[in-house]
Amino acid sequence: MGYLIDTARAMAVTMRNVFRPPTTVQYPAEDRVRPERYRTSFALVHDEGGDEACIACLACERICPSRIITVKPAGKRESPVTGKKRNYLENLTLDLNACIFCELCVQVCPTDALIMLRELAKPAFSREDLFLSMERLYENEKLAHSWGTGSRLMAMQNPKRGLPAPEPKAATPPQGADPVPEGSS
Ligand code: SF4
Ligand code: SF4
Repeated sequence: MGYLIDTARAMAVTMRNVFRPPTTVQYPAEDRVRPERYRTSFALVHDEGGDEACIACLACERICPSRIITVKPAGKRESPVTGKKRNYLENLTLDLNACIFCELCVQVCPTDALIMLRELAKPAFSREDLFLSMERLYENEKLAHSWGTGSRLMAMQNPKRGLPAPEPKAATPPQGADPVPEGSS
């Protein structure tokens, strides 16, 4: 008798699950909507005038707990946009192999030059795939930006400063982000 009751219970559980809507999607055929603050890889961006936003201040390199950012300043030169002298980058690299996605580098960036991306992860097949050269970081500017810029993250910590505009200057995301591990959001 006990056996029959257990069987009936098991069948009831099975039937409940048969009619439950699926919780997974058929990736990559189906693209799940990512939240604004989903974040994976990184990009370097230009400012509103089209000039390189990075001023090679080294703040991101200094704060990174994993020591994976290397900044090489190029020194001061005249901006082609404003005509004023300012610092430029010679090189900036970021090795995603050891990134813990703490976002500190983005938070300390005084010019919102370094941002994170809101892109689906792609598998990486070698360590080199996860190394972001300056060229790759600037290429990534075209991809969808995550919500958090340095200004927004700092404003969140000090609400009296007021939050910047809610929409990041994000491009429409084409498919195909940098290969980065899943799961940081
Ligand atoms: S998010 Fe990654 S690169 Fe940026 S500070 Fe944290 S560990 Fe370093
Ligand atoms: S990305 Fe930002 S924090 Fe890093 S060197 Fe450039 S301006 Fe400074």
